[in-house]
Amino acid sequence: MPIQILSDLTINKIAAGEVIENPASVVKELVENAFDAKSTKITVEVEKGGFSLIRVIDDGKGMARDDLILSLERHATSKITSAEDLNEVITMGFRGEALASIAAISKVGIVTATEREGSGDGLTAAGGKILSLKPSARTRGTTVESRLLFYNVPARKKFQKSQRASISDITKFLTKFGLSHPEIHIRLVVDGKETIHAPSESLEERIQTLLGKEFLKGSMPISHANKRCEIAGFLGSPPDARSNRLGQYLYVNGRSVSCPQISRAIYEGYGTRLSSKLHPTFVLHLSLPPEWIDVNVHPTKKEIRLREEEVILKEIRKGVMNGFGSRSLPPVAEKKEPFEPIGGSFEFSAPLVFQEKQEEVVSSFEFSEEELQVIGMFENYLIAHGSSIFSLPSSPPPYTGMFLIDLEGVYARILFDRFTSETSPTMQSLLIPLTLDFTPHEKEILERFKEDIQNMGIELRSFGDEAIIVDALSPDIEENMVSSLLHEFAEVLEKGPASKMRQKKLAFTLSSYARSQKRGWSIIEAKQMVKELLKTSSPYDCPKGKPTVIHLNHDAIKSLFQKSSS
Ligand code: ADP
Ligand code: MG
Repeated sequence: MPIQILSDLTINKIAAGEVIENPASVVKELVENAFDAKSTKITVEVEKGGFSLIRVIDDGKGMARDDLILSLERHATSKITSAEDLNEVITMGFRGEALASIAAISKVGIVTATEREGSGDGLTAAGGKILSLKPSARTRGTTVESRLLFYNVPARKKFQKSQRASISDITKFLTKFGLSHPEIHIRLVVDGKETIHAPSESLEERIQTLLGKEFLKGSMPISHANKRCEIAGFLGSPPDARSNRLGQYLYVNGRSVSCPQISRAIYEGYGTRLSSKLHPTFVLHLSLPPEWIDVNVHPTKKEIRLREEEVILKEIRKGVMNGFGSRSLPPVAEKKEPFEPIGGSFEFSAPLVFQEKQEEVVSSFEFSEEELQVIGMFENYLIAHGSSIFSLPSSPPPYTGMFLIDLEGVYARILFDRFTSETSPTMQSLLIPLTLDFTPHEKEILERFKEDIQNMGIELRSFGDEAIIVDALSPDIEENMVSSLLHEFAEVLEKGPASKMRQKKLAFTLSSYARSQKRGWSIIEAKQMVKELLKTSSPYDCPKGKPTVIHLNHDAIKSLFQKSSS
């Protein structure tokens, strides 16, 4: 084929492939244009997943007639004039490609007006060509419609997701956008039904509107400013951490970005409060000097690079850490040194926290006869006043002074008892069954002991040569620990102990594994656990035989200070 100069339409169709992947990317470009036009209210209407219609209505500054015509040209932008401007751009888009691309692959209609009253202009375009241009009535602002997306690029159309998936992408985008600019009123109307309505509000209110009240529960506001870096937003509490990153909203200078270094610094700020396998939830806004970051390294502008990386990351770590300082949370530490009452050393790596009285006390959590009076928590130890709810085999009453309770041991004991109990656990079917790979040898062992494993709360079936499918789990077992647990089970079972022992061994593996995964309990949870502990077969030792509860009477405490007891 001889060399040919591509037509504008072809160029735009190719460019459209880069910028416009799906209906959500059309919504993104149009909403960002509305934002750049300084709108205070943006409405998005979509029909049939956006494939039939996407309409974005704003009350921004609008376009004069000449600009309206130019706006569909490739590289037509009012936002930069030269490459030098690039570092300064704080607007969302500047490549001048979006409208041209959208007009190349859908039927576009625009109505716009610059004056509060009076007339505006409208145009229609298809296949990249303007079809009509005429005065149209409109108050200040712009309405852009894109109909029949991909009608002339069937190959793209074929690879689109379902309408429902498309709506979910659009909703996700608007949620992200809405959290970046809570002052902008946003609405989403899907097939005539309003699914998002967020009036102009504070960030806190916006989080409630878009992410629900749950998100804010237990979260910590953060506000930190130093060295030209400002960080503001909300950090989810460590127990709310999730196994995926879907609860993370990060903004730099008002735009949603991804930046692995920043994420890492946030995790570091959480420190040992967070299990290494979990992801915290947060909505964080960073304001940085524009010259400290490189934006737009990516055509859809999600990734950024940091220039003053050291300073920025240090401030983020500090900001997040300080965020925790302002609130009392049960501290959790990685270290597992046993508490040594006499001659031992206290490890103050985590602050000793005395929690204020919790308000949300659920009645079933109360001890009916005698309340366990909690003094506070230190790492995973609950400290309580002397009381007669225990009857320790190693130390006779009266129980004055105080108790130290090792919550890890307590948890392991409770799980061990649950797993060794005669009744098989209640199982919950997984929405998406897990498919896990094993060596043929491991798989053979797991299949052989399928029933024992099911009694432990993991329902599995064989699949293919090396894979196993897990369909249901006991609520005590978290999905993300199933794979490593089954590997451990395979090892334990390989030696094939007799059935009774086998069950104990499995339960032991399971409870110590669960224990190693669990980090941090609230005081309410801790009390509930102590209550459950008392119902177990052997409350005062963990499955490994270590004590769960230590009593320190006045004499023991005095002797710690080398005072003679008199
Ligand atoms: P870019 O946003 O990268 O400049 P676009 O193709 O998205 O490129 O838009 C081209 C130009 O059209 C913009 O620079 C802006 O001047 C104008 N424009 C687009 N949408 C709007 C809008 N909603 N309100 C006012 N002007 C707009
Ligand atoms: Mg744009």
